[in-house]
Amino acid sequence: MRISVRRQLPLERIKNFFEVSLGLSKEEAEKEAARCLQCKNPPCVKGCPVGIDIPSFIKLIKENKPKEALAKIKEKNNLPAICGRVCPQEDQCEAMCVLNKKKIPINIGALERYAADYGQAQRHEPVLGKEKAGVKIAIVGSGPAGLTCAADLAKMGYEVTLFESLHLAGGVLMYGIPEFRLPKKIVQGEVDYIKTLGVKVAADTLIGNTYSIDDLFKSGFKAAFVATGAGLPQFLGIPGENLGRVYSANEFLTRVNLMKAYKFPEYVTPINIGKKIAVIGGGNVAFDCARVSLRLGRQVVLVYRRTENEMPARKEEIENAKEEGVPFKTLTQPVKILDDGKGFVKGLECIAMELGEPDASGRRRPVPVKDSNFVLDVDTVIVAIGQNSNPLLPKVTPEIKTNEDGTIPVDENFMTSMTGVFAGGDIITGADTVISAMGAGKKAALAIDKYIRDGS
Ligand code: FAD
Ligand code: SF4
Repeated sequence: MRISVRRQLPLERIKNFFEVSLGLSKEEAEKEAARCLQCKNPPCVKGCPVGIDIPSFIKLIKENKPKEALAKIKEKNNLPAICGRVCPQEDQCEAMCVLNKKKIPINIGALERYAADYGQAQRHEPVLGKEKAGVKIAIVGSGPAGLTCAADLAKMGYEVTLFESLHLAGGVLMYGIPEFRLPKKIVQGEVDYIKTLGVKVAADTLIGNTYSIDDLFKSGFKAAFVATGAGLPQFLGIPGENLGRVYSANEFLTRVNLMKAYKFPEYVTPINIGKKIAVIGGGNVAFDCARVSLRLGRQVVLVYRRTENEMPARKEEIENAKEEGVPFKTLTQPVKILDDGKGFVKGLECIAMELGEPDASGRRRPVPVKDSNFVLDVDTVIVAIGQNSNPLLPKVTPEIKTNEDGTIPVDENFMTSMTGVFAGGDIITGADTVISAMGAGKKAALAIDKYIRDGS
């Protein structure tokens, strides 16, 4: 039988921001690891975007060698404590596991987390890079793409500086994903590990404003990697979106997570929300907003225009939200946010939808049902329908071309239209996943190394 992670009970966890998933004990991890068949041509590895040697690290866990298991994972993945918590393994490595035939794939994510947490519990031994080549590389943005690229380049011996506009490194891992899914001390632990590799972190530094890309080259950087992510919120474009108590998911989550609004009065970050919140969307971001709202003691309803089957959020998060009692209002499209006469939200007018033919994404297109308008009684609306690429840097750097949707096009070596400037992660793909951003960071590090060695 597959061993699942223990979790805080729903009625308890909605009253706190502590991590929901409690991970595996040593005995559970070793028992789960013992189920692995150690396949000769392991399909799970092909399902991992960064190619972790999954059977080898699982075998080391089975042999009670978590430290060695972690070292094995770190050959390919610099952020295992994070991936073990938030990667969609059910669509990746676990989806490829041969034991799927019996519907009991190995719980690879939980085992990765087990090894990583063991590693973080140990004191970090400083990992020295190779002899420094004296070549300086700038990384712009410290999300998973930037952190991974920085770590890999540091391991190759480069002098890497990570520039981050916010006051803490980590990108969405730090400001977006809530504490109860990804504790910030875990993210900080991974950032600290990367610092032990020699990476310097320059926080509170907005590239394109504090310094331009040209300034970086003038001050001796030989190449730059742009990993600025997709942090520009999308809105619905319906009447009433400018009312008070309408939030973008980004603003709401940043105030709660990074600025610690949930720790009031210890932290004094203001967050003006009412008692009844509608969260619009069906992805991970929408679920995070809904579950944060619950923990802030508010009533919440999740409004989604398709059905639960089409929701892009991770299955585990949908299950967690259901257990916690988040109601879903599916096949529902908001059409207007109502004004209370004082400039604040009084309700959300919606129209019922039904599913029609599949659209370009393969999901069935929602179609409005005539004369089916109704009003949801809410006083706060959080819009979580997606994010676009951060526009600032390309806007002030005309040499970096962009696509119509704001993403930055790159060649097969991750180089942008500006020589020596590479890019990867959500800024080139649009909003995607942690592991795909990490995969881009790894490939870009190799490409930057080749660019430097070939004599730029
Ligand atoms: P980001 O993580 O967005 O980091 C970009 C960084 O660049 C930010 O810190 C930003 O402040 C900084 N920056 C931007 N412009 C500048 C500049 N000009 N100068 C300096 N710094 C700059 N993915 C999953 O796989 N699983 C999940 O469960 C999951 N949940 C999510 C929940 C939320 C709420 C959100 C928002 C996303 C979630 N994702 C999830 C998606 C995932 O987090 C992103 O795909 C991933 O973080 C992208 O990484 P990145 O490195 O490209 O960019
Ligand atoms: Fe183990 Fe499954 Fe990978 Fe085979 S496919 S090595 S059983 S995790």
